[in-house]
Amino acid sequence: MKVLKFGGTSVGSVGSIKTLLEILKAEDEQGSRPVVVLSAMSGVTNLLISMAEGAAEGHEFTAQLAELEKRHFDVVKALLDVQNQNPAFTRLKIHFNQLEELLQGVLTLRELTPKTRDQIVSYGERCSALMVSKIAAQHFGNVLFTDAAELIKTDSSFGNAKVNNELTDLLIRNYYQENKDSLLIVTGFIAGNEAGQTTTLGRGGSDYTAAILGAALNAEEIQIWTDVNGMMTADPRIVKKAFPLEELTYTEAMELSYFGAKVIYPPTMIPAFLKKIPIVIKNTFEPAFRGTVIRHDCKSSTLPIKGISSINNISILNLQGSGMVGKSGFSGRLFSLLAREQINIILITQSSSEHSITFAVQPDDAGKAQRLIEQEFELELLANKLEPVLIERGQAILAIVGENMKQTPGMSGKLFHALGRNGVNVRAIAQGSSEYNISVIISAADLSKALNAVHDAFFIELTKTLHAFCLGTGNIGRTLFSQLNGHKEYLEKNNGIQVKIAGISNTRKMMFNSDGLSLDTWKDDLAESIHTADLPAFIAKMKEMNLPNCVFIDNTASPKPIEFYEEVFKSNISVVTCNKIGNSASFSQYKMFRDTARRHGVDFFYETNVGAGLPIIRTLKDLMSSGDRIQCIEAILSGTISYIFNHFKGDVSFHDVVKEAQDKGYTEPDPRDDLSGRDFMRKILILARDAGHEMEEAEVEIESVLPKACLEAATVDDFYNALKTEDAYFNDLKDRALKEKKVLRYIGKLENGKASITLQMVDENHPFYMLSGSDNIISFTTDRYKERPLVVKGPGAGAEVTAAGVFADLINVGAD
Ligand code: ADP
Ligand code: ASP
Ligand code: MG
Repeated sequence: MKVLKFGGTSVGSVGSIKTLLEILKAEDEQGSRPVVVLSAMSGVTNLLISMAEGAAEGHEFTAQLAELEKRHFDVVKALLDVQNQNPAFTRLKIHFNQLEELLQGVLTLRELTPKTRDQIVSYGERCSALMVSKIAAQHFGNVLFTDAAELIKTDSSFGNAKVNNELTDLLIRNYYQENKDSLLIVTGFIAGNEAGQTTTLGRGGSDYTAAILGAALNAEEIQIWTDVNGMMTADPRIVKKAFPLEELTYTEAMELSYFGAKVIYPPTMIPAFLKKIPIVIKNTFEPAFRGTVIRHDCKSSTLPIKGISSINNISILNLQGSGMVGKSGFSGRLFSLLAREQINIILITQSSSEHSITFAVQPDDAGKAQRLIEQEFELELLANKLEPVLIERGQAILAIVGENMKQTPGMSGKLFHALGRNGVNVRAIAQGSSEYNISVIISAADLSKALNAVHDAFFIELTKTLHAFCLGTGNIGRTLFSQLNGHKEYLEKNNGIQVKIAGISNTRKMMFNSDGLSLDTWKDDLAESIHTADLPAFIAKMKEMNLPNCVFIDNTASPKPIEFYEEVFKSNISVVTCNKIGNSASFSQYKMFRDTARRHGVDFFYETNVGAGLPIIRTLKDLMSSGDRIQCIEAILSGTISYIFNHFKGDVSFHDVVKEAQDKGYTEPDPRDDLSGRDFMRKILILARDAGHEMEEAEVEIESVLPKACLEAATVDDFYNALKTEDAYFNDLKDRALKEKKVLRYIGKLENGKASITLQMVDENHPFYMLSGSDNIISFTTDRYKERPLVVKGPGAGAEVTAAGVFADLINVGAD
């Protein structure tokens, strides 16, 4: 025999009741006659509570009562044959009249006692069970509406009554024995005390009703039919990637649902656990899905944790003071005081010095708890042995749960790393000695981010989501978007990474979407965005959105974004940039970026600062961190100058080559920005700093390619004219090189802590002799690569390769 419980959404509409009937039919066809437990229609319990509380404050309830009636009557009209409708209306109407009388009493007296409140809310379950039993009778004949208040006996703690198990079991067994030929449709949630008054079992208590019945009747299974595919790894409303678990132990299910408002009411597990009856959570709206089984002997799981539980609004109170140290009775006094006054403590932590105790309560209880403590410990407070008790509101609890944690070290490390990396401050920590649960108190504002980040950290086989905010939609930004768009599926499949572009800004407009902006239509969307570009506002919004695994991508060449890097790091957001200006300004700023990023546990990647997408920065870092020592770095890092010297051959004049390079888009608008060596200098400077040298710009010696007159020309046209007059100088250079069978190369060098950029003539034995087009080349001579240096060579400029470098940096964020 089975017990089937249907929750609020499963009886909440005509459609769902039809599905419920299908589920019962399937049981019927198998010759099974289950006991069925029903909740109130979805939203009804809340509505009843608000009507009752409203009436106590003098508010009218007529409209709400009419709404309630209509919801039930509509179902009757839709699902009962006409001849059966009137008896059902009559029975329901009697209930609504009683309810009205009760509410009228509350309104008149302006008082709502817990007893009356239970009486009022009980009509939710009474009406739904009555209604469904009438409908079911049409299909299954012998149906019996059963009021659980007659069977489940409790004490008189209204709102959260304690069950008298022995008496209850007896009553249930007798009742079942007498009526087992009927299909029993039982009201969930409600019970009765010995005086025959209605009590309730706590919010969500219909699950518990099912377990009490199941245990009393030694059911083979207790099924909880709801609106999700089972118990999920986290609250699916907050964590989109949460997935249903196949199996859980009773303890795990209890821990996962402990913080309330969850798919199953925790006390449900106790009767089932004692009788080892499996609880199966199933989806009324997808009945074929297997759902989750909570049972005694789960097969071993490879998951490090089963899930993450949370509660999003709690208050914490902190007691501290010298008066607590070594006072063995202190916490006893505190907690028995709170228990006596029925203040439920959700979590407690105590420092080992016994100097402080922190505990979490429901926000409604916080003020009362504070007052009680102030009365109880008045003397200690007066003597300054206890500091004034403060309430901190707006807190949340997040807990990771799973029996496997016991055997797996590093679980708390993983938890705190995920939180720390995402800038979530942990106010207090509690680990149950069972090691099935590690709980942390964090700010409620961080809960969504924290849940998603922790979920990503523990369920690594799922795709990890990076949230990127991109500045700049020029060549590189634009190319990056198209590369990301083209690689979306590959990335998810092969790297387990999903990139969501949560913000885009150029100098005109900006736009945001935490679910990811479309990379097909971003250009039009941005043009039509209502938000005018505003860099401080862009940064502020990125912080405010508070998304997990967040990355700021600077695809500009502007000094403005650099001013915000520090703030970005401090907000625990990683930075990926192709903008060289930040790293090549003062050394103190370069160092500050690195230190700030490290302190906040985020990444700062700038591979494209040197040689576009070529693996130069990363190679240098790997060499150094693996204990190698850099002896010398030689490099050609200006694609423009490479192009010019590679084409300065035969009869073409230097002037014409530069002009051609400019026409082809290889140079800056003013070619002197390249030819002066300034851009090259920045790259060498960044390399020198990454190689461990505390170097400033002025220390890099630059031999200009250009004679003084060209450098000093007032305009670009003047510059070209000056170049023409210097033909002889350049031809002479070329001829000398040719005579010696050499080529001209503009080479940067770092050796013995000194950096220089010089124009050199190199022969065919030099590794830089063979260099084509606009390629970059870099050679690292190190203690390990001494005989033959390590050389990296390839295209060192262009939107495609640079965007690819930014792309690679982006997907490396957080990959540790
Ligand atoms: P019912 O009315 O069927 O009793 P509840 O509202 O009590 O349903 O519980 C189901 C809801 O619990 C789901 O719709 C889901 O949003 C929420 N929920 C929160 N945490 C979880 C979780 N870890 N797994 C599944 N559902 C969860
Ligand atoms: N209707 C009750 C509530 O909303 C009980 C339940 O649904 O389990 O709390
Ligand atoms: Mg429920």
